[in-house]
Amino acid sequence: MPAYKRILLKLSGEALMGDDAYGINRSTIVRMVREVQEITQLGCEVAVVIGGGNIFRGVAGGSVGMDRATADYMGMLATVMNALALADTMRQEGMTARVMSAIGIDQVVEPYVRPKALQYLEEGKVVVFAGGTGNPFFTTDTAAALRGAEMGAEIMLKATKVDGVYTADPKKDPNATRYPSLTFDEAIIQNLQVLDATAFALCRDQKLPIKVFSIFKPGALKRVVMGEDEGTLVHV
Ligand code: UDP
Repeated sequence: MPAYKRILLKLSGEALMGDDAYGINRSTIVRMVREVQEITQLGCEVAVVIGGGNIFRGVAGGSVGMDRATADYMGMLATVMNALALADTMRQEGMTARVMSAIGIDQVVEPYVRPKALQYLEEGKVVVFAGGTGNPFFTTDTAAALRGAEMGAEIMLKATKVDGVYTADPKKDPNATRYPSLTFDEAIIQNLQVLDATAFALCRDQKLPIKVFSIFKPGALKRVVMGEDEGTLVHV
């Protein structure tokens, strides 16, 4: 039995990139989708928020002199591309997925409508949320917190490269240890960067727990969903 009935999975654009320098790596996206498929087969309802950093980030545009808001809209469009790739791979793997976008792009994907998204989840379809929050100056982590709260997800699973939150950077400090769990307040006091400040505040206000885990570790997603000791849990 999975520990959660409904989860919000935040996948960064980088998660689709594999070892490539840019874009979407075929074998990586297939592996990712199979991990998600495994948890749907456990009976877990899955909503996904996908990032866009493998294609474009607003800060990158801003740093080369573009208007920041315009660059952020480019970033949001990048998430739509990733969502299309993700849903297409899901379909090829025999899953049923729906993409919903926070920015109007109706010829390509359907718009985000909360009751419809809830219905899809109840029907066992995977919902991929594209376009972030639909607003510049936000991140897809914030979109994940927002959609997680809106969908009534029991937890937000933040897929990263590192398998949890550490006392120090494990790449630099050999004595760094992983926190199995910590509270929101402990994360603030110890200045641990779990999510960006806006996303973190939203999760904390809405009492939406966060689990940070590595998507590059085979089987980790399933272990998280089964409630096993994997990654770091941030709770109230
Ligand atoms: N973005 C935005 N508003 C949002 C979500 C995303 O403007 O609500 C833009 C922003 O420019 C960001 C880019 O989309 O840099 C890609 O999202 P993000 O950096 O969160 O992707 P990830 O790091 O998860 O791949």
